[in-house]
Amino acid sequence: MNLKLSDMITTTNTISLAEIENLRTQLKGKIVLPADKDYEELRAVFNGMIDKYPAMFAMCADVADVIASVNFTREHNMLLAIRGGGHNGGGLGICDNGMVIDLSGIKYVRVNTSSNTVRVGGGNIWNEVDHATHAFGLAIPAGIVSSTGVGGLTLGGGIGYLARKYGLTIDNLLEADMVLADGTFVTVSASQNTDLFWAIRGGGGNFGVITSFKFQAHPVKTVFGGPTLWPIEKLDEIMKWYHSFIHNAPDDLNGFIATMIIPGPPFPEHLHMKQFCGIVWCYTGDMDKAKEVFEPILAMSPVFEHVGEMPYPAIQTLFDGLFPKGMQWYWRADFFNELDSEIREQCLKFGSNTPTPLSQMHLYPLSGAASRVGAEDTPWAYRDAKYAGVIVGVDPDAGNREIITKWCKDYWEALHPYSSGGAYSNFMMDEGQERVRASYKHNYDRLSRIKQRYDPNNLFRVNQNIIPA
Ligand SMILES: Cc1cc2nc3c(=O)[nH]c(=O)nc-3n(C[C@H](O)[C@H](O)[C@H](O)COP(=O)(O)OP(=O)(O)OC[C@H]3O[C@@H](n4cnc5c(N)ncnc54)[C@H](O)[C@@H]3O)c2cc1C
Repeated sequence: MNLKLSDMITTTNTISLAEIENLRTQLKGKIVLPADKDYEELRAVFNGMIDKYPAMFAMCADVADVIASVNFTREHNMLLAIRGGGHNGGGLGICDNGMVIDLSGIKYVRVNTSSNTVRVGGGNIWNEVDHATHAFGLAIPAGIVSSTGVGGLTLGGGIGYLARKYGLTIDNLLEADMVLADGTFVTVSASQNTDLFWAIRGGGGNFGVITSFKFQAHPVKTVFGGPTLWPIEKLDEIMKWYHSFIHNAPDDLNGFIATMIIPGPPFPEHLHMKQFCGIVWCYTGDMDKAKEVFEPILAMSPVFEHVGEMPYPAIQTLFDGLFPKGMQWYWRADFFNELDSEIREQCLKFGSNTPTPLSQMHLYPLSGAASRVGAEDTPWAYRDAKYAGVIVGVDPDAGNREIITKWCKDYWEALHPYSSGGAYSNFMMDEGQERVRASYKHNYDRLSRIKQRYDPNNLFRVNQNIIPA
């Protein structure tokens, strides 16, 4: 593709090549423009459905680069996207005709073993963090696919296998360094810039570019877990049992329930391309007690189980191979309080008609430590919800884009009337202001006032956007 810079930059000001050259001289990292050879590769994000053409990438190597790039973008009135790991379902780490501040050059993981705290760069991905912390028998609560970025996942909340034991990722965030819209650099924590510290624990990338995170880690080395599967016809019985079981189980036990097809190896051949109700478990307690904890689970007679001891990074990477970069993804989400008969009925209906082998529905339990944080202590408003639900239509073939999108939307529309109203912001695509408001509920207005204070012109708006008050 032959793109001219003038075609790509749509601003109220004209940006001359001399001005871009001037920015280039200020950066330790590099500027990538549409004519550069890295451009095509860089503009590809995890979701192959996203096809955006930015005007330029600032490949930031340090905080100084981020400050210079934020100032340049603001001064030239450009649209700005911040890219951490590039995994966002709605493609919110990239934009058309604007600047992308890419943080993949700001990576480090430093473990402090005297306090079990961990410093992580703004551009790290979770498997780099798990690798570094595992050497010390530690882990930070994160998501279930390890190629996801630390930045986006953390700023939205962070739900994973350790949520019932140690809370969401934001519940383990102790401090962050940020570059604000006016180019100033601040550190935020429970004792410094407390309004911003509150806002970034769920409010997404609305408030600035986080260049460094400091997390509390926990002793997690070996876990006992893996999948259990039942034929989809048993969904009603299994979901009912799961709902009564999981929230009364010890915090050490987690497991998300799903409707899914088994696409192929490493599962045995007789399961391939069949539809299942599955639960993927992770137990972090005393390994000597694991068999006892799993007794009631195995008593439900799954047709397949593959649970056992494994290093924590192994469960974190269990699904990485199934989901390489570049496939088509369509996302929809909601929180739920119950798994009533209407919900089970719809899950059976849509789970029995999954359009492609990788399309799935997941319900992540939110009881335990994640539910013991106050509903106003962070922007994450749904502390009383029992599940964060997500439906994903997924396929490698762009030709199947329509059918995965339709299935996902129809499934969501069938379940939404029984939901708690809003959704986890990191599981949404671009669904408009009403959905953003519904997701932050009573915390939206406070977020909006903080946004007005630090980003009144909404420079950081390629996200689940909080409108300045
Ligand atoms: C396969 C897959 C599995 C997933 N599993 C889970 C899961 O188990 N649990 C869960 O909670 N979520 C999960 N997610 C959702 C994930 O949390 C979001 O997609 C998240 O936005 C990804 O973060 P990222 O940094 O990779 O994204 P990006 O696309 O880089 O960015 C997403 C948003 O975050 C902002 N952002 C990113 N980094 C920074 C930063 N350093 N400073 C300021 N703003 C920043 C961006 O501006 C953008 O608005 C999953 C996503 C995928 C694709």
